[in-house]
Amino acid sequence: MSALTDLSLAKMQSGLAAGEFSARELVSAHVSAVEAARPLNAFLVETPDHALAAADAADAALKAGTAGPLAGIPLGIKDLFCTKGVETTAASKILQGFKPRYDSTVTEKLFAAGAAMLGKLNLDEFAMGSSNETSAYGPVISPWRADGSSENLVPGGSSGGSSAAVSARLCAAATGTDTGGSIRQPAAFTGIAGIKPTYGRCSRWGVIAFASSLDQPGAMARDVRDCAIMLEAMSGYDPKDSTSINAPVPQWAAALNGSLKGKRIGIPREYRVEGMDPQLEALWQQGIDWAKDAGAEIVEVSLPHTREALPTYYIVAPAEASSNLARYDGVRYGQRVTPPGGSLNDMYEATRGAGFGGEVKRRIMIGTYVLSAGYYDAYYLKAQKVRALIAQDFERAWESCDLLLTPTAPTAAFGLGAKSADPIAMYLNDVFTVPASLAGLPAMSIPAGLDSQGLPLGLQIIGKPLDEQGVLDAGHALECRAGFTAAPQHWW
Ligand code: GLN
Repeated sequence: MSALTDLSLAKMQSGLAAGEFSARELVSAHVSAVEAARPLNAFLVETPDHALAAADAADAALKAGTAGPLAGIPLGIKDLFCTKGVETTAASKILQGFKPRYDSTVTEKLFAAGAAMLGKLNLDEFAMGSSNETSAYGPVISPWRADGSSENLVPGGSSGGSSAAVSARLCAAATGTDTGGSIRQPAAFTGIAGIKPTYGRCSRWGVIAFASSLDQPGAMARDVRDCAIMLEAMSGYDPKDSTSINAPVPQWAAALNGSLKGKRIGIPREYRVEGMDPQLEALWQQGIDWAKDAGAEIVEVSLPHTREALPTYYIVAPAEASSNLARYDGVRYGQRVTPPGGSLNDMYEATRGAGFGGEVKRRIMIGTYVLSAGYYDAYYLKAQKVRALIAQDFERAWESCDLLLTPTAPTAAFGLGAKSADPIAMYLNDVFTVPASLAGLPAMSIPAGLDSQGLPLGLQIIGKPLDEQGVLDAGHALECRAGFTAAPQHWW
């Protein structure tokens, strides 16, 4: 039998059910893997006690025949999800020491299903970033390295702790959140699968807010089936989230089907951006051929406002962030800095000045600027209008196709520090992921191949609202043909 940490989530489920190993054995193996992987800095908090207690409960439930769907499955939780009694910081200094008195709806569901939380995963501060370098607690190091190189690479962001932990076999799956690509881009960088469902599928309640009209929890795992299992457990209507969708959650994993017969897959012309890496272009073509092989009909489509998506996102997201982050005033949460003899305003200033990192401050400044009187119409309102046009582009595309196939990110993972001085270069990472976020559509990245340096590249599938099944099926069809089995070499 292969190492317990190498098993897929589905195999863990069947192995536990068949009594091939106990939940305690499974979880203990992962607790040790987490400890041994500290050089990656993927976990901000380790919670072995939580994990082992859940494992023992799972073993008892398995014996009694009352086990939930995720009984004894070792998971990592992005530290943007509030977890009862466990420090939750969003990788920000301003929330240092914050222990929520409640669980997010998503973590509550996962724990009710029997999952074992190994710890809280590092991320970009308040999920703002594409490389996990904006964390106040240090960057996450990707477990991947280019062939023959010892240079540290980024794991993508903002769910970089999640992507690193899943690809390094520290957990079976992890939660992520995706505002403009934070599940899909890190999944692509680390050779794993990740799905952002339709906006509103997973409750945002208890997820620390970045940009509320875009934020969406989702699943990250090593293959499509595992993503489907995980997403099923995370999804569902929640009256505590006013944008939650009141629709039944299909059994995505059970219905998973790798045939694309009768499906029309659209290739958006505008995603062929200038200067695209020829290897990525070749992989995209490969993906098209795989889709054909699975029975799909390929159609070229146009999404004319694609170029406007990135600038639109970088107005809307900071605007919402500046409003959401106003609550960190030193009174209600986390850190407080009181200058001697200072006024209330001095306290606010000192607290926010010391508590937020550079990228978060940049977003707050952009956000307050685009929302300020005199600029609101020129920037924020305009961006809202363009956002509507981007959503309309997709609606038109659905007249001629069922799904879209694109690359996930414009490049493979880059070196630590390579883009941190240039915010625009960093923002360009999101060029292929942001449009689906602005339109609230389900989208996933699957590991499709390795570049000439041995680094993973991902392909993205975008679907119609609520068609997670279509997205997962297409992901599964491509994944079967890609036959991606590469894993990072253990160097840590
Ligand atoms: N990289 C994008 C940003 O920095 C997306 C982040 C996210 O999806 N949370 O805003």
